[in-house]
Amino acid sequence: MAAKILIVEDEPAISEMIEVALVRANFEVIKAEDAEEAMRLLGDTQPALVLLDWMLPGASGMEFARRIKKEELTSHIPIIMLTAKGGESDKINGLDAGADDYITKPFSPRELIARIKAVLRRTSPQVADETIEVDGLVLDTASHRIMVNDESLELGPTEYRLLHFFMTHPERVYSRSQLLDRVWGSNVYVEERTVDVHIRRLRKALTPSGHERYVQTVRSAGYRFSTRV
Ligand code: CA
Repeated sequence: MAAKILIVEDEPAISEMIEVALVRANFEVIKAEDAEEAMRLLGDTQPALVLLDWMLPGASGMEFARRIKKEELTSHIPIIMLTAKGGESDKINGLDAGADDYITKPFSPRELIARIKAVLRRTSPQVADETIEVDGLVLDTASHRIMVNDESLELGPTEYRLLHFFMTHPERVYSRSQLLDRVWGSNVYVEERTVDVHIRRLRKALTPSGHERYVQTVRSAGYRFSTRV
């Protein structure tokens, strides 16, 4: 599982313990020490899940959770709060603020991984799965490999990310600017027509197997990945 997890935790020892556990479970890890840093990283890296310490210096975990859930770009990202023992009101406030689950400190690495997988399975089953398959087109997120009818398909890194995004978000139209935000990252400044260039390359790569017809242009709206042709 190569899903990206953002850890927001100001205590280095805990942050490190979590990182070790996540890396061992094959997650990719990004770390922030406070809400400001986390907010910057969030738009840029589009993590699959945020592990959020409740007690942070500066803006609290709750404020940060509210911000994540308020922004259109990040509201889909699930949050697991890390709370102190006995903090019943923290848990309730956290769930109110939009957190999807909470874990009480101290916790075991095993419990942590189990909770993360459960939340990912619930909120984004496509991310929790190691492989995504659409009609003979198979994307293996662990190895970053794409197979078409059992043959390996070579894609550039941007085309891979684009296809991954499409396959995990099918049947929905995305504008060029939404694709830039979600695939390139919100702090990357590239022109919208860059999207068209990479869409063209992706379609070309998918053409021999006929899968290019799933990458659809929706006039004056953007692009959609759909199996309904
Ligand atoms: Ca703390």
